[in-house]
Amino acid sequence: MKIITQKYGGSSVATTEKIRRIAEKVKKRVDGGYKLIVVLSAMGKTTDNLIALSEEITLKPSAREMDMLLSTGEQVTIALFSMALHELNVGAISLTGHQAGIVTDTVHRKAKIVSIDNNRIMKEFETNDVVVVAGFQGIDQEHNISTLGRGGSDLSAVAIAAALRTECCEIYTDVDGVFTADPRIVPAAKHIPEISFDEMLELASSGAKVMQARSIECGKKYNMPIWVKNTFNDTTGTLIKEEDETMEKVMIRGVALEKKEAKVTLKSVPDKPGIAAEVFSRLGAGNINVDMIVQNSSTDGTTDISFTAPKEDLPVMMETANKIAKEIGAPKVDVNPSIAKVSIVGIGMRSHAGVAAKMFRVLADNNVNIDMISTSEIKISVVVPEKDGEKAMQSLHAAFELDK
Ligand code: ADP
Ligand code: ASP
Ligand code: MG
Repeated sequence: MKIITQKYGGSSVATTEKIRRIAEKVKKRVDGGYKLIVVLSAMGKTTDNLIALSEEITLKPSAREMDMLLSTGEQVTIALFSMALHELNVGAISLTGHQAGIVTDTVHRKAKIVSIDNNRIMKEFETNDVVVVAGFQGIDQEHNISTLGRGGSDLSAVAIAAALRTECCEIYTDVDGVFTADPRIVPAAKHIPEISFDEMLELASSGAKVMQARSIECGKKYNMPIWVKNTFNDTTGTLIKEEDETMEKVMIRGVALEKKEAKVTLKSVPDKPGIAAEVFSRLGAGNINVDMIVQNSSTDGTTDISFTAPKEDLPVMMETANKIAKEIGAPKVDVNPSIAKVSIVGIGMRSHAGVAAKMFRVLADNNVNIDMISTSEIKISVVVPEKDGEKAMQSLHAAFELDK
């Protein structure tokens, strides 16, 4: 049996007309002798709309009830898509994450997949050519519905492809693959035919939302190559795979922009051993994914500790930060939601000196003030004012000649 996994994102399934077109596309693969697992996202902006609905009731919803709410979006799409396949006489059945055997931990809204039981999907292939699976959701060990974080349908698809070792994993979206920058912000961005897991992971975790970062981690862990393709044309797309000698070596592979983070500062923290450990272990225990951290040098025995984390965690983050501040004797907590993080990513940076200096020079020449800096072997990120984020991205893209 030849099985392939495909995933179609929200904009690809935004209307019933688009759902019909994708059903026809899937039927062609069935006619070519394949069985397909088709993972689907919620239609268009459904997930955003569900979040907005909850905000009409409360700004501090129970995470369990949020998952109950958000998981409904994908269920609408899978049922409609199966119906569209039935209309074309293709044997198909839709399954929720639970029915498809996706078991997660209990961290609602950003659950991790702990196991996938293949039995149900494989059994359905005895009588169907297509198994349609709701993306973004699973079930935890206590039988509560969980969701996998925004953009999580990518993870559903990659994890299923890896668990069943399907022939390939194709992620269909509304652009021709991965580009050197978001083509909606940098029109000169160039298409990338092949990219390593490591570079894609850094780009994705720096804001290139074309792929969810955790789905890339999963692809790398199980060495499952991932194709990113355009739903509505036949261009070749981008192959994400393990780095090898045939891959083109470039210094900078791409630029990414993240606007969905906020900066929190604990002011005048007593400067003594154990304080940072206390602060960040408490944030970790609250499941807040801290990104960048900066600690100022100490004056009169106190120091400021700043960190960035996803804006969607801000209510929990502020509650936790205020509690910690009180306990450790820090008089004040500041928050700045108007920041942007701009990152340049490339394996080639490992062997080139002076990349950071050039990045900072370009930003200075464009009058962009840098607030925080962090570097890794293959990435340099800076925090800048939100209003300057796009300008910073465009000028870096041009200065590093990524359009050439
Ligand atoms: P889907 O609904 O299919 O999951 P997303 O909206 O999550 O689609 O991701 C696709 C979008 O990602 C594109 O429309 C594009 O604007 C954005 N994007 C950001 N960075 C990049 C990049 N480097 N390459 C391609 N697209 C990118
Ligand atoms: N519908 C979910 C979201 O909008 C999951 C996904 O589209 O991948 O985040
Ligand atoms: Mg997406």
